[in-house]
Amino acid sequence: MSEATVKLRMPVNRPDPHLIRLARDQELFQQLLADPSIQTSLERIQGGVGHTLMAEKRRQLSASLRITESVSPYLHKVLTTVKTLLGLEMPVELYVTPAPVLNAFCMTLPDSEGLLVVVTSQAVERFTRPELLFLVGHELGHGILQHSRLPGGALLNPMDDDARLSWDQTMLMLRWMRASEISADRFGLLCCQDPSLATRVFLKLASGLPGQYLGVGEEFQDQMDDWVKTKIAGEGMDETHPLLPIRVACSHAFAESEYFSHFFGAGAVEACNSMEGADNACHDQLCQMDADHVQIDRLDHPEEVMGFLALAGFLLCASDNEIDTVEYHWLCELVGRDLAERARGFAGEAGFETYVQEMYSLGNGISQDLDRKQCLKLVSDIAIIAAVDGHVHPNEVKGMQMVAEALQLPSHLADVVIKDLGAGSDQRLNLRGS
Ligand SMILES: [Zn+2]
Repeated sequence: MSEATVKLRMPVNRPDPHLIRLARDQELFQQLLADPSIQTSLERIQGGVGHTLMAEKRRQLSASLRITESVSPYLHKVLTTVKTLLGLEMPVELYVTPAPVLNAFCMTLPDSEGLLVVVTSQAVERFTRPELLFLVGHELGHGILQHSRLPGGALLNPMDDDARLSWDQTMLMLRWMRASEISADRFGLLCCQDPSLATRVFLKLASGLPGQYLGVGEEFQDQMDDWVKTKIAGEGMDETHPLLPIRVACSHAFAESEYFSHFFGAGAVEACNSMEGADNACHDQLCQMDADHVQIDRLDHPEEVMGFLALAGFLLCASDNEIDTVEYHWLCELVGRDLAERARGFAGEAGFETYVQEMYSLGNGISQDLDRKQCLKLVSDIAIIAAVDGHVHPNEVKGMQMVAEALQLPSHLADVVIKDLGAGSDQRLNLRGS
């Protein structure tokens, strides 16, 4: 769609954040804020977050361009249009930062000084004016809904280990973060006013390509269908953003809702869905990325085999240099928490070489009583750890080769196992958005 054909409609109603907000976002947000241990974590990091925000504002002042009418009439108009459409009266500072990536973020400044939105230079170049309305509207949506009251980065990656969230809280937090993106997209849609424009934004985010190479993206949803079909175990549950085709589907659901039609006055847009219907459609889409659909069965082997698998599995968990939360949880479910923790403790005490020696010696012993097929089965039982996030890191391939070797198998058999998992090494679908 060319820019010239887009004519913005003025809303006849002021946006109502409570109605626009996805029910799932609201519910999970309240649930997380009411959790006493999350409250404790928030208190612990609150002062820190305030300082971080001020530091970030100072950094933007020194390293980015603050948009005023004379600095960039074009971008100033984008901001004032979005503020008018969203009926936003609080002060908003818009900055453009030089960066070769498509990105934007919003921060609520402490002491209700308003909102700060930063957009990268590449986003300004790649997105058309209506697409920028979507992007800036999305960011202001985060600000209006006060999503920063639950700072995801600080809560999920706390500076001190004691403040680390439990598995359930981590999953809840990630589930909420993904839902909050859909709410923010709805504010973007009220600004660009056309879901096909939002789809163009998502196509550009997914590909990094400029508009002349892209069409309307009708088959984008098929990519999601393929993803679901070939999805490996818990893939997706550790993502902070919904996969982009999910955002496309949710945008359409909102644009077909009564609320969207009501916003522009009766008869302006035809509604074919209630707001509840739109929320339910988004809920179903988002559930595809949740952890709770995944049932992990405990492996059932004799004690010494389980001990070996715990060592082998922990080696895979730690092989990309940090212990992946999702992978470690998976190991706990597969071999039991006690064995997983014993392997973790042993790795900490013994150091890499001794750890590997112990794994080889256990593997060696086990392989005496098993045939090759049974040994290969053990490798594939534990190899799932490396693939739960849908991505097999080259170090994880090395780890699997070591596990195979420990069981007296030729190391190239690890490649066969990876193929069977359906995860080509380094073939991850990278669909992160802004
Ligand atoms: Zn966002």
